[in-house]
Amino acid sequence: MSSKVPPIILNNGVEMPQLGFGVWQVPDDEAQRAVATALESGYRSIDTAAVYGNEEGTGRAVAASGVPREDIFVTTKLWNSGHGYDKALRAFDASLAKLGLDYVDLYLIHWPTPARDLYVDTYKALEKLYADGRVRAIGVSNFETEHLRRLIDETPVVPAVDQIELHPHLQQHAAREYHAEHGIATEAWSPLGSGKGLLEVPAIVAIAQKHGRSPAQIVLRWHLQLGNVVIPKSVTPSRIKENIEVFDFTLDIEDLAAISALNEDRRTGPDPATFNAG
Ligand code: NDP
Repeated sequence: MSSKVPPIILNNGVEMPQLGFGVWQVPDDEAQRAVATALESGYRSIDTAAVYGNEEGTGRAVAASGVPREDIFVTTKLWNSGHGYDKALRAFDASLAKLGLDYVDLYLIHWPTPARDLYVDTYKALEKLYADGRVRAIGVSNFETEHLRRLIDETPVVPAVDQIELHPHLQQHAAREYHAEHGIATEAWSPLGSGKGLLEVPAIVAIAQKHGRSPAQIVLRWHLQLGNVVIPKSVTPSRIKENIEVFDFTLDIEDLAAISALNEDRRTGPDPATFNAG
């Protein structure tokens, strides 16, 4: 059983598995099944969010797994309607209750929602949760360099993670460079391009054939070799297992270059500069 996903070390010394399991768009009861399959398959990191509506199913699967709590890395995220210092603290309490946990490993601000202009105050609430030992690490999601720069200038704790859309069609060079300069781990959401055609791209299919692997495994391996944290999602048991079987082969320089040539700066999701929903 491949339960040994290597960790990356976050900027506060906490270890986070480099590969985890995402549950966006998975209904609550199905999330329980999918997370259970993931934990049985060796995943030890789960990525949920308040807005996904499946913190309860995720928590039930964690509780029922028999895996010690301290061996599982749980991430959840503060939704846009929870921005503001006091609201963020209350939103965290609600997430924790739904998960049935007494701490989370990583708490993220889901989107900066620049029109609200509350993300600095919101982040200060996360710093309070961190100081109180209710989260092991804090970070952000969908923050662009200008948003990160404000946090770094105006608050003491540098985010441990920025979870952003990142895959071969959207390689985020500037963001990755900024993260590296400031000790922020880059976590890739929709690492497989969210099932929207990336896995049929001929260059990826050819590399898959060369290694006797699936296109999804090739894309995940590319992320890992770049140093990204990845959280592929699947509700299909065979794919859940397949997506973690990526630690026993290596892409060569030509493979990496061929995938890196696929960048189109093309998003599948919203633009963080203008996304203010919720
Ligand atoms: P992924 O890039 O992980 O792709 C998931 C899709 O690919 C599903 O349709 C899945 O199908 C399919 N798939 C998975 N594995 C394979 C495989 N081995 N072969 C073929 N197809 C496969 O997309 P997501 O958009 O879900 O992103 C992953 C996670 O990132 C989310 O679940 C969530 O945790 C996080 N996320 C965070 C966001 C944020 O704003 N912070 C935004 C979006 C996502 P099936 O399930 O039917 O098997």
